[in-house]
Amino acid sequence: MALPTATESETFNLNHIYFASIPGSQHEQTSAISDRGDGHTIGTISRSVSPSVGNSDDLSTSSSSSNSTHSFNPQASSFKPMSWSLFPPPTAARQFELRKVEGKGLGLFATSYIPAGTRVICEAPLLQIPDNALHLAWGPYCRLSNDQKKAFDVLHHFKPEHLNTEQVSRTFLVDVNDSSLDEEDVEELIQDQARVMGTFACNNFQAAKGLAVFETTSRLNHSCVPNVQHSWNPSIKQLTVYATRDIHADEELCTTYLGGPGVYYVRSQRIELLRSSYGFTCTCPACADNTGISEGRRQLMANIAYGLQVYQYGGQGQESVPYVPATPVMALKQAEDLICMLLDEGIFSLELCKAYRMASTVALAAKNWEKARDYALDEADIERNCLGPEVADLIKVGAAALCWIEQVRMCLVKAKVYQPEQKLKRRKNPAHTSKPLKPMATPNMPSPRKKAKASAKKQAQKAQLSAEREAKAAEKRAKFEAEEEERREVAKRAEFEKNYPALRA
Ligand SMILES: [Zn+2]
Repeated sequence: MALPTATESETFNLNHIYFASIPGSQHEQTSAISDRGDGHTIGTISRSVSPSVGNSDDLSTSSSSSNSTHSFNPQASSFKPMSWSLFPPPTAARQFELRKVEGKGLGLFATSYIPAGTRVICEAPLLQIPDNALHLAWGPYCRLSNDQKKAFDVLHHFKPEHLNTEQVSRTFLVDVNDSSLDEEDVEELIQDQARVMGTFACNNFQAAKGLAVFETTSRLNHSCVPNVQHSWNPSIKQLTVYATRDIHADEELCTTYLGGPGVYYVRSQRIELLRSSYGFTCTCPACADNTGISEGRRQLMANIAYGLQVYQYGGQGQESVPYVPATPVMALKQAEDLICMLLDEGIFSLELCKAYRMASTVALAAKNWEKARDYALDEADIERNCLGPEVADLIKVGAAALCWIEQVRMCLVKAKVYQPEQKLKRRKNPAHTSKPLKPMATPNMPSPRKKAKASAKKQAQKAQLSAEREAKAAEKRAKFEAEEEERREVAKRAEFEKNYPALRA
């Protein structure tokens, strides 16, 4: 299943891109979090980091939720982005199969253990349209082979209320004046077209500037705590699906239908969107959580992310937005809180990537060089897990994590904490406790005048030291001579007394 296409919605999006450089932003080294279409569209594609949801004034930002006892990700507190060297290569073997899911129809299930960062699916579209306009699906559908039609027809079908596919069919597709069709034929055609549009609507993913349905990927079910990341990769012109965390055998592979910012929607928003667009009620761990912890966390995450966005890029009514940090140090703390909460919530998607980028960016502004470096490297690891190594398109526009790493490196060189040729390396101790980077002692090249002054001073010191030494030696000599004199005097007296004992008294 996938999201429906709202015919009137905007079609523009920076597909596959989420960090685009914004010149003249608040900090000179910043790169903006803007748009990295992960493929799914929900009408208008708005990729602001987070919507403002609810009022969570009663929630405190100061408590990092990594200590929370309620986490969808038991390893959250000890989670470390993995090293690149451990990245599993794409595998040709299928590691999943289609199975029936109670109450959900069909879904994809892992048949073996799938480590994080594995490319699970890489697939060309089955049916692609160049624009976000549903009626465009009919033509390409008619040109599909019988086998392809069969593959398309068996996908989940749902007709969202807000999409009047019959009306779309009458307006754009059926020629009611066609004399070769009787009334019954017209009605049959309209129903057929409406069916194709309905299936397309709830199975499409973003592909290039348009939308596409995929034979395998469209089978992925939704979870608000997804374990895979889908994205259209323009470099290879295919849709890729990567495991964002380790997936165990028999676990269902789930992506999100809500796009990146869906992470920040509260439960009621998510449930309503999914119900109206796909006709199902989400029962994922986050939606099934009745303790209110996930809900509170998501609200807080939304507020923190929004506050950070306003801090970094500005926004309307800045003063009235809670959680806008006042200083780079506070922004860094807030970004770190966001990372902890995303991990606690079990989110390893590109939103985590964005949070690491934000943390790295504000760490630079706070002159916390080691954190700027560490978070840049963390971002690269998560990006690799989500998108794989083929990010030529992101590199081309300077949006890849690799580009950010280079920017951070340049800043570190400028701050003289790194040598010009030094590469950014992963810290030995990954627990964010690495020693603070300090400016290197640079050899001073004193001016000739300074040098002469220093030399004269040194000479004077030397002379003084020599004089002191000489004086000490003379004193020592005098003392020795006086002692010698006294010794001789005593010996003389003793001799005299020995020879003339009568005079002793
Ligand atoms: Zn859910």
